[in-house]
Amino acid sequence: MNKPVILIVEDDVPVRNLISTTLKTHDYKYLTAPSGTDAVMMASSHNPDVVFLDLGLPDMDGVEVIRQIRSWSNMPIIVISARSEDDDKITALDAGADDYLTKPFSVEELLARLRVTVRRLSMQNTDSNADSSTYTNGNLKIDYPAGCAFLNNKELKLTPIEFKLLCLLAKNTGKVLTHTYITQHIWGRSWDNDIASLRVFMVSLRKKLESDPHSPEFIQTHVGIGYRMIKVE
Ligand code: CA
Repeated sequence: MNKPVILIVEDDVPVRNLISTTLKTHDYKYLTAPSGTDAVMMASSHNPDVVFLDLGLPDMDGVEVIRQIRSWSNMPIIVISARSEDDDKITALDAGADDYLTKPFSVEELLARLRVTVRRLSMQNTDSNADSSTYTNGNLKIDYPAGCAFLNNKELKLTPIEFKLLCLLAKNTGKVLTHTYITQHIWGRSWDNDIASLRVFMVSLRKKLESDPHSPEFIQTHVGIGYRMIKVE
């Protein structure tokens, strides 16, 4: 993959300059948009590889920008939100954002999120040629059609729900999945007690999957938001 082009959507000039300077220093190409209308227009005309999207825009809600882009493209969108916009952050992830950063953020954090997203993009590009019926991540292997998972070549004894949960996270490696997103995919609905059940299933899945469930290697918790399968180096 060539150096990716990043679209920065941010109305706050100092923040926009911070992001663009950071990207420039690290040899990324970038475009900028100061409003939601410009963002949607530039996303369709320039087809960037990744979008950094501020939620608080002057002309429209950032979530609306996600919905419009998602109506025709799967390009990765990383949301940048202020702490007061926590609920919007979850709505944004549910609307199809890939990841989030909370203001104020460090430049290192911004670059780390970008690397994860770019790696996932190039993984998807290779996956489409490779055999997509199996999944490998470090010592974890999933055979989707056979319905089994292996850790260090040893089969994991998973319940059907644990297996579904593992597959959903694996198919979205690198992406933060919200509680609502997960419960809707597993149970087809998202009630409070489904989210409570999700926690229970996640504990039992981790006991089987992680050598140290308190310092997980595969599944990362985003407190109050959801979970993410990490690409193991
Ligand atoms: Ca703003």
